[in-house]
Amino acid sequence: MEQAALFTIFGGTGDLAQRKLYPSLFRLYKKGNLAEHFAVIGTARRPWSDDHYREIVCDKIKDLNPTDEEKKDFASHFYYLSHDVNDTKHYDQLKDLSDKLDEQYGLQGNRIYYLAMAPQFFGTIVNHLKSQGILTTTGYNRLVIEKPFGFDYDSAAELNQQIRNVFPEEDIFRIDHYLGKEMIQNISVIRFGNNIFESLWNNRYIENIQITFSEALGVEDRGGYYEQSGALKDMVQNHILQVVALLAMEVPTSFSNSSIRQEKVKALEAIRRYSSEEVLQNFVRGQYDAGTLDGKDFVAYHDEPKVAEDSLMETFVAGKFLIDNFRWSGIPFYIRTGKRMTEKGTRINIVFKQLPVNVFNFEQEEAKGADLPQNILTIYIQPTEGFSLTLNGKKIGQGFNTEPVKLDFRQSAEVTENSPEAYEKLLLDALNGDATNFSHWDEVANSWEIVDRIRHTWDKTTPGFPNYAAGTMGPQSAFDLLAKNGHEWTWQP
Ligand code: NAD
Repeated sequence: MEQAALFTIFGGTGDLAQRKLYPSLFRLYKKGNLAEHFAVIGTARRPWSDDHYREIVCDKIKDLNPTDEEKKDFASHFYYLSHDVNDTKHYDQLKDLSDKLDEQYGLQGNRIYYLAMAPQFFGTIVNHLKSQGILTTTGYNRLVIEKPFGFDYDSAAELNQQIRNVFPEEDIFRIDHYLGKEMIQNISVIRFGNNIFESLWNNRYIENIQITFSEALGVEDRGGYYEQSGALKDMVQNHILQVVALLAMEVPTSFSNSSIRQEKVKALEAIRRYSSEEVLQNFVRGQYDAGTLDGKDFVAYHDEPKVAEDSLMETFVAGKFLIDNFRWSGIPFYIRTGKRMTEKGTRINIVFKQLPVNVFNFEQEEAKGADLPQNILTIYIQPTEGFSLTLNGKKIGQGFNTEPVKLDFRQSAEVTENSPEAYEKLLLDALNGDATNFSHWDEVANSWEIVDRIRHTWDKTTPGFPNYAAGTMGPQSAFDLLAKNGHEWTWQP
């Protein structure tokens, strides 16, 4: 069960490392996946000592209630190296320290390089890992990298080329932390583990699919980053298209990394590549204005720190993807995501088709001619985790009046709290060499192709921003988008 490895974390003083990686490593330590034979080198520009680094690490795991002994032992595996990514001699120091720790802890040459830094440094780092002989020949060398993977197809392809000059695809673990989330992983189980769903999972029975990733928060202090990315690149290119692929893919021959990847890539390839005209018909964008929610006032996006007063960056996207294959032809996959929406929530609604005839109509005088409510399968990803199914049942009493009933399953807070955090699962996957829950280059490339078309079309026109009040579910155009097909958003908080 114990895995021997050296983690080298580039950006070891950064927000991601402190908030996510150290607690996740500690959880793996508590579970015994990391025990005696592991070490962590944190590198970043700041001139920290090992002692100071260990104090920071201890501070970041305090919410996990370690005993003094656990804290001391865990932290003793951490080493700090002050490092400028552009300075070759720092890599020589890194090599010396890595080799020393390898021997000291019996790490068998197994190395995980975690790039928790801005992507512009990735190329330089991987080149130095190779040129300075840091890669081992005895164990494995795996590269874990964070989003964003490029800012369009061309930059992503260039970045990929730089990395692939050093690491083969099977050793590259591109993080999409949503793929580590329990309920995202559950999509496959709900589909492929239940005959009642998978046999209906196609355009004969499903009317439309809706994916919502809403955030109640605004841009906070990330204005600088967000002004470069916007909702389309921040959310749609990666997380949302990954979810579309999981929902749309064919049944893999086995639940293995390569079969799943193949099917996901095929699904992404089948997503229609829109012309500019089609983009304008099928995608809408928004930017939040000032607004009030639950008695609290919020400022407009363009008044947030580090955001241009006349910013044209979108904080909201809604759109319709079409998948041109046998299973999905004609079925809209609606997506929406945004900041400063009414409520934080990630959920998927699978809306099944109307029955051909409502035979109960004649019993319900007031509802004569009306359709029965549609069956809806909802998958709750966060903050609650679970799923529900809306069915029609008989209303108790005389006659055959119907009413919708909901079969509802939510994971208990206790189970959710004790379940592994996304980063913990992904780190363990990387230790096990299992890339199922990471993005393969072919997936990234397809996603950029799709998103670039939207971006290029939008860049040619000037949006009328701001166009939705903070605390709402986005601009009117996001509702009109569904209404013109006779659909509506199932989730309307
Ligand atoms: P951060 O700015 O907090 O940390 C950046 C780290 O890089 C710091 O440790 C800094 O010292 C180091 N660094 C910067 N320039 C350097 C140089 N020239 N030489 C050596 N070290 C240098 O950033 P972060 O929020 O931790 O994000 C890191 C990466 O993870 C980014 O690519 C980001 O997009 C991605 N990411 C972060 C989060 C998050 O929750 N923070 C979530 C998803 C993805």
